[in-house]
Amino acid sequence: MTTMRAMVLERPNTPLAMRERPLPRPGDGEILVEIAACGVCRTDLHVVDGELPHPKLPIVPGHEIVGRVAGIGSGVSGFIRGERVGVPWLGWTCGVCPYCRFDRENLCDRPLFTGYTRDGGYATHTLADARFCFPLDEKFDAAEAAPLLCAGLIGWRSYRMAGEGAALGLYGFGAAAHILAQVAVWQGRRVYAFTRAGDKASQDFARSLGAVWAGGSEEIPPEPLDAAIIFAPVGALVPLALAAVKKGGRVVCGGIHMSDIPSFPYRMLWEERQLVSVANLTRTDAREFLAVAPRAGVKIKVTRYALADANAALADLRAGRFEGAAVLIP
Ligand SMILES: [Zn+2]
Ligand SMILES: [Zn+2]
Repeated sequence: MTTMRAMVLERPNTPLAMRERPLPRPGDGEILVEIAACGVCRTDLHVVDGELPHPKLPIVPGHEIVGRVAGIGSGVSGFIRGERVGVPWLGWTCGVCPYCRFDRENLCDRPLFTGYTRDGGYATHTLADARFCFPLDEKFDAAEAAPLLCAGLIGWRSYRMAGEGAALGLYGFGAAAHILAQVAVWQGRRVYAFTRAGDKASQDFARSLGAVWAGGSEEIPPEPLDAAIIFAPVGALVPLALAAVKKGGRVVCGGIHMSDIPSFPYRMLWEERQLVSVANLTRTDAREFLAVAPRAGVKIKVTRYALADANAALADLRAGRFEGAAVLIP
């Protein structure tokens, strides 16, 4: 094979277009990945909608990549051809900035992000920096493994940031929440799922995964929460979540973009409630979570789309037309 196909964003707010390109050769430190599946993440919508600054253009979106090593550049060790790998959002870091040097590479001053500032996985092939790729358990089907690479990993970072409390609220029951709910239940925690008001299908889905309660995001849960994670990109959820957590509780914003947060009285934050955000992931997060997910018996619910139908997958994500995660199959 000498060519590859990719769904390409030329400019924000335009549909992706199928393009054929010469198959690239892996450079120094890179591997060529033949893609078996790529998840569709809400961040891709933010890229397509022009809500994130300075994307590389044109860009191939997609940062939940599962595939096999199809070529190995010079200086790469630890990978063999045909091996299954995952490629996540964090695509490259500088290694020398203060964040990189002190175990916070998620905050690197000069990072590259897969599917945003370097080409990603809405394609048959992609190049990736081998240091940011992970061997993947063969136990998961490729499509089911894909959402682990962002919904899972950044969800896991958000979950760790939420602390050890037993009563955990999840606002927005999409790809990330449906994975993390299972991990939380496996760890013996009580999960409270918050969805759009009246979204009975998502509430039933949450209960089927072990949530002890599911309701609309304006509702007050039957017990005060130790922590809440907001996965939906809706700033109005911040004061609602603060109202649902107890003294000393923590609200974690897990997304990369959110609509503006409405003002709220200081008393909602008082008593040492905390409001924090999670940005990106570290490779340590990835190694931890990729080990936890199979042990927790996480089952991933996916809706499969052909690569050429990437625009439909994005539209369905925007409209909330499926449960779990959308995945493109090239
Ligand atoms: Zn750095
Ligand atoms: Zn993502």
